[in-house]
Amino acid sequence: MTSLSARRHVLAAVLGVYKQQRLLRRHVSPALQSTWGRRCVASGSKAEDGTEVTPMLKHLIFKIKSTGPITVAEYMREVLTNPGKGYYMHHDMLGERGDFVTSPEISQIFGELVGIWYVSEWMATGKPKTLQLVELGPGRGTLTEDILRVFNQLGSLFNKCDISIHLVEVSPKLSEIQALTLTGGKTLSEIDVGSPFYMKGISKAGIPIFWYRQLQDVPQGASFYLAHEFFDALPIHKFQRTEHGWREVLIDIDPNVPNQLRFVLAPSATPATAYFIQGKETRDHVEVCPDAGVLIQRLACRIQEDGGAALIADYGHNGNKSDTFRSFRSHKLHDVLIAPGTADLTADVDFSYLRTMTQGRVATLGPIKQQEFLKNMGIDVRLQVLLQNSSDTAMRKHLLQGYDMLMNPKKMGDRFNFFALLPHQRFTHSDQKENLHHSKSLSAAVAGFHELVWK
Ligand code: SAH
Repeated sequence: MTSLSARRHVLAAVLGVYKQQRLLRRHVSPALQSTWGRRCVASGSKAEDGTEVTPMLKHLIFKIKSTGPITVAEYMREVLTNPGKGYYMHHDMLGERGDFVTSPEISQIFGELVGIWYVSEWMATGKPKTLQLVELGPGRGTLTEDILRVFNQLGSLFNKCDISIHLVEVSPKLSEIQALTLTGGKTLSEIDVGSPFYMKGISKAGIPIFWYRQLQDVPQGASFYLAHEFFDALPIHKFQRTEHGWREVLIDIDPNVPNQLRFVLAPSATPATAYFIQGKETRDHVEVCPDAGVLIQRLACRIQEDGGAALIADYGHNGNKSDTFRSFRSHKLHDVLIAPGTADLTADVDFSYLRTMTQGRVATLGPIKQQEFLKNMGIDVRLQVLLQNSSDTAMRKHLLQGYDMLMNPKKMGDRFNFFALLPHQRFTHSDQKENLHHSKSLSAAVAGFHELVWK
């Protein structure tokens, strides 16, 4: 195992190493500066009116007419990932011309610090000879690109390490953009029938990259998992407490308005109500994401069996929020039932549910606020290094604005959280051996979840 002080030493060096690097990856349009982030739009914004009859709406109306009202989970799954008309499948929704902007798209520092986290964990687990980086829902591939730049800078550290990238992506359009970002577009998609991946390529630095439709297809083995703004896109079920007990919220056709959907309550309890609502529940409205539960169980089993770590970053809560189902279009809050397929659908991640679903197979850290995580990872040092090496006023302004968006508690700093899964043995061999059962001491050994002293 590599000691905490040795890791600190390497990581502090990384923060400065970028002196020679191109400073700016991209500029943020001034137009975006007040409308960044999916969840950062004032919640009082008015939704748009109008009944836009989209192909997805027609499809849903047909479906409901044939088989009856659908669950919110079914609605989300259809609207977001239906192979023919799903929102994620055929267009790029990220960035200025899209519907929302994410942290990796705002500042390169974000991805660099996440990259450093993986280097730290890889070192802490004894520098295994193979390193599989698995990203769930990689968007434009920007985060992986920034992480790979960090790995590249540390070429000598990874000398004898076999690195590979594994991207889990359902969207043909986004996988095409990821391939362009990471390989320059040189990929092979005519893969043998039976192959677990649907596309492969080689990064600009010669690292193999594979694309999969689901986590189960990614080869087993010590892996480092990453999910940024991924869990919030998974389908949720919604439940409402009534005087007759819990009822699931469903989506039906509004009988009074042509081509319009509306929320209704199931007339009686369903197996889902009994299965998903805890007896001790105190809230009146609850959202549950079983797909997130299944996924977290899979991640926990893999990490327990093969080692590695998972870092999950998203907006969310610790089991105390109620009604968070939202839609965003062109950086504005949008009615979730209007013009389905043309806007993003999202719900806050319930981190307490994720923790429960690990079933103790792995240790969990967090959720902690983005501003705390990034501060602990050395964002201030990194910003200073970049500022000192830039004499260009526009660049300096861009760096400071990006920092503000990521760190300001009223912007993304307090809304986004970091949560980690780590194998239990990670701690039995850590620098904190004597304090095994003290969670604060455990997190002290893990970069990002505790302040590291950058000497
Ligand atoms: N992580 C990126 C993109 C977030 S948007 C960023 O932060 O910039 C959500 C991403 O998850 C998109 O790439 C979308 O296509 C993908 N996605 C959504 N649902 C998915 C599913 N069920 N399986 C795999 N990928 C999915």
